[in-house]
Amino acid sequence: MTERQVIDRARSEGRSVLTEIEAKELLKQAGISVVDTRLATSKEEALSISQQLGLPVVLKIASPDVVHKSDAGGVKLDLGTVKQVGEAYDDILKAIKKQYPEAKIQGVSVQKMARPGVEVIIGMSKDAQFGPVIMFGLGGILVEVLKDVSFRIVPLERRDAREMIREIKGYPLLEGYRGQEVVDVSHLEELLLKVSDFVEQNPEVKELDLNPIFAYSDGAVAVDARVVLEESK
Ligand code: ADP
Ligand code: MG
Repeated sequence: MTERQVIDRARSEGRSVLTEIEAKELLKQAGISVVDTRLATSKEEALSISQQLGLPVVLKIASPDVVHKSDAGGVKLDLGTVKQVGEAYDDILKAIKKQYPEAKIQGVSVQKMARPGVEVIIGMSKDAQFGPVIMFGLGGILVEVLKDVSFRIVPLERRDAREMIREIKGYPLLEGYRGQEVVDVSHLEELLLKVSDFVEQNPEVKELDLNPIFAYSDGAVAVDARVVLEESK
């Protein structure tokens, strides 16, 4: 599907929140690297997609009504056998139906288990005064508890991208702290610039969250994505 089709379909269903699969589709078309992710609408399909992608895989609930997927038991990581994939499929649906009996469930997304990297996040929200603003931070508790993030107004220039990565307190973690992988920071700069372009070219996007992105010495990949559209007029 094209970007237009993805957005139009969500709108025609009266949704302003895109699912993870839809969000990743848009981002992929904008040249942003995302984990290859497909929708399964039955257990059999989940199994065959897993085998096509190659184990281990990750299964996640695909529902516009479930925003925090792992909190609700909607994410199963590192599934290494067909049996585990089948069980995870059942467990996810059971957990979600119990906690969100009203949720519209599209199915379950199946994706490759990405190798661990340094977790970073990139977000975009719109400020009443400044318009779209991009946020950068390190994933997990550093963002949630310590709010160690930086912001710049769209459109970003190369210098903005460079500065916003270097000004967070956790920056040394990207330089290979205690044996962690040394992250390719210039790749992250490129990624920030691509996100800025995406935001400029898609004024219908109200909020964007790539959380987390796994950053490596040779690139980076988003494993989760969320897009919220502006209310349609
Ligand atoms: P949510 O944020 O909705 O709870 P995520 O999709 O972010 O769900 O998944 C929760 C966590 O699981 C992520 O923060 C990440 O650490 C891990 N994870 C998610 N997808 C993958 C993947 N494809 N490969 C490896 N780890 C993943
Ligand atoms: Mg997430």
